[in-house]
Amino acid sequence: MSIADNLIKYKKELEGENVELIAVSKFNDAAAVLEAYNAGQRIFGENIVQELAEKAEALPKDIEWHMIGHLQTNKVKYIAPFISLIQSVDSLKLLTEINKQAAKHNRIIDCLLQVYIADEDTKFGLDHAEVIELLRSEEYLAMKNIRITGLMGIASNNAEEKQTKDEFQELKVLFDGIKVSFFRKEDSFKELSMGMSGDYKLAIEEGSTMIRIGSSIFGVRKIKHYKA
Ligand SMILES: *Cc1c(COP(=O)(O)O)cnc(C)c1O
Repeated sequence: MSIADNLIKYKKELEGENVELIAVSKFNDAAAVLEAYNAGQRIFGENIVQELAEKAEALPKDIEWHMIGHLQTNKVKYIAPFISLIQSVDSLKLLTEINKQAAKHNRIIDCLLQVYIADEDTKFGLDHAEVIELLRSEEYLAMKNIRITGLMGIASNNAEEKQTKDEFQELKVLFDGIKVSFFRKEDSFKELSMGMSGDYKLAIEEGSTMIRIGSSIFGVRKIKHYKA
């Protein structure tokens, strides 16, 4: 199936659901992104700053770019002018830098806090206590140029269905608690980004509002390093 066919399949599947499709285009070239764009897709996710910045420069300006990978503080400046959503905020230090760079461009940058839910050491993210600590901090409360619109999580790789479900449930419970405790009056806090090619159906059942789909749209990624 072509990229366009895959997108049509997802579009059909998501009809009537309150779920946004993020097409994860990492390691795929600009031509592949354009193919998806021409099939109507407008939101793309990338996990490497340089690749993201190059594609944003080369591709149509009505694309919404989401940063979904670990973001180093010293690289925020390269995406601050145009990024639509940073899904992978995993420290107060990073959020502080995003706020600073957003201010330089007179923007408010939407962010998700990435929560660690997997049973692995390799994934970035905050634990529950760290999320709460961040949201209570004076530094966060003083920030004027970021807006936290929800949470993001990555479930364990190759886990049993039951474990994946538990991990998504854990994130949903945290999301509901954070919503009530910190964002009760803010309609903008509404995104729960969970689910990838292998587990998005479970994620939607458990309350996801954003699924991040790469390989089942673009095919299995053949290269590890993108070249423009
Ligand atoms: C690569 C990636 C995805 C997409 O993964 P697929 O299994 O190819 O759908 C989703 N989220 C994050 C954070 C990723 O790095």
